[in-house]
Amino acid sequence: MEKFQESMYKLIVETSTKLPKDVRRAILAAKLKENAGTRAAMSLDTITDNILKADENVSPICQDTGLPTFKIKVPVGANQIEMKKAIRNAIADATKDTKLRPNSVDSITGDNSGDNLGDGTPVIKFEQWEKDYIDARLILKGGGCENKNIQYSLPAELEGLGRAGRDLDGIRKCIMHSVYQAQGQGCSAGFIGVGIGGDRTSGYELAKEMLFRSVDDVNPNENLRKLEEYVMENANKLGIGTMGFGGETTLLGCKVGVINRIPASFFVSVAYNCWAYRRLGVKLNPETGEITEWLYQEGETVDFTKAEEEAAAAVEQQEEKTRSITLEAPITEEQIRELKVGDVVTINGMMHTGRDAIHKHLMDNPAPIDLNGQIIYHCGPVMAKDGEGNWVVKAAGPTTSIREEPYQGDIMKKFGIRAVIGKGGMGPKTLAALREHGGVYLNAIGGAAQYYAECMEKVEGVDLMEFGVPEAMWHIRVNGFTAVVTMDSHGNSLHEHVEKSSLQKLEQFKEPVFN
Ligand code: SF4
Repeated sequence: MEKFQESMYKLIVETSTKLPKDVRRAILAAKLKENAGTRAAMSLDTITDNILKADENVSPICQDTGLPTFKIKVPVGANQIEMKKAIRNAIADATKDTKLRPNSVDSITGDNSGDNLGDGTPVIKFEQWEKDYIDARLILKGGGCENKNIQYSLPAELEGLGRAGRDLDGIRKCIMHSVYQAQGQGCSAGFIGVGIGGDRTSGYELAKEMLFRSVDDVNPNENLRKLEEYVMENANKLGIGTMGFGGETTLLGCKVGVINRIPASFFVSVAYNCWAYRRLGVKLNPETGEITEWLYQEGETVDFTKAEEEAAAAVEQQEEKTRSITLEAPITEEQIRELKVGDVVTINGMMHTGRDAIHKHLMDNPAPIDLNGQIIYHCGPVMAKDGEGNWVVKAAGPTTSIREEPYQGDIMKKFGIRAVIGKGGMGPKTLAALREHGGVYLNAIGGAAQYYAECMEKVEGVDLMEFGVPEAMWHIRVNGFTAVVTMDSHGNSLHEHVEKSSLQKLEQFKEPVFN
């Protein structure tokens, strides 16, 4: 069992730090398709850069560990109780080694267990089979994309698409709608797993099961193969693009499965996964617990170099076309009013992290430091101490900003905050506050945890550690931190614009295709 635990540790570390080859191929293909000089091309450049940095540093691709979910097939006689213990130990060890951010919290109190263990975490599902080896697979699916999962109960009336009936065409409409409703908020470009049938639970189970299929496989069910191909071709016409910035690629993979249902129910369940599709698997010898084969790793090493070169050229063109502005806190209202949606901003100097617990706290309490003119970063970083006891940032991508919508505008006005950085955009309340107070929302590239960690030169301090490492307020000095203005102080929101234009594009898919 010791060897099995070691193998599970390797599987966890590899899954957290290295994207599988099938996913890399899909990202490379998207990158080559994207027009030079666009925000989408720049975002994909950051994403590929981030993938390579994670490889190099053996550090988490994204700071959001997500919910570790293991699917394990075992020969008859394998001791599942002991295996479960070994997996839990391996999870705790990988967390201690900062390969996973502590991410398991008490659902009521929000207390973080600190080791990614708790009731229901990790998820471990066993199945017996007649083969003579163990097949162990793991997916780390983050919250940003998990929150964009959706389940339809047919028949249904869908925005932009009208009536979706209880047939293949109704299913087609649900899938197209699922991509539209996710916008860029699940860190697009993404992958979807679709489950047709079952009940509400088994439908979602099947959708998630589909995420364990290889991106390159072909559905043996002819109807579903056609459906998958249709969705891949047409969802990319919605123009949502990477991070919802607009662009050619919105979806990188679509896998559909079907199970029976009862006559009274007809569910279509969709599991959305971000580009940071951390899913790997191994075959193991049941006698020794050793890894005999890695899964999803067929084919040659995926070389991003060509794409990187094209991206570098694209960035040069982009710099000619768009304004690139450098900011350093404290920022004045005049500087903020100068900024417009689409500007690329590079930040040097101080920023301060804050996510759910901090925002809630700041509503009713004074800030631990003077936040006037400062920048708040929606981020729950992975932190570690170096040999001299200093904090260092191991992973620090943006978290989903919309969760702070009830607080953000009030907090900006109360403390004089001039800029917030996050991902996915914010709503009308924040947009109104940005206009009134003179503030700006910057969209960083979701999942680019290594890329941003490298911009972080020094941790100057930390407050409110009682909320736990990811939720504390970290005061960090950055250099060359780049993000895009997606909501400005003049009432403009790129998120609103892309949502409206993608809805118009969705309407072209209203007419029946599969009968
Ligand atoms: S890439 Fe985005 S959605 Fe995916 S785990 Fe990271 S923050 Fe969450």
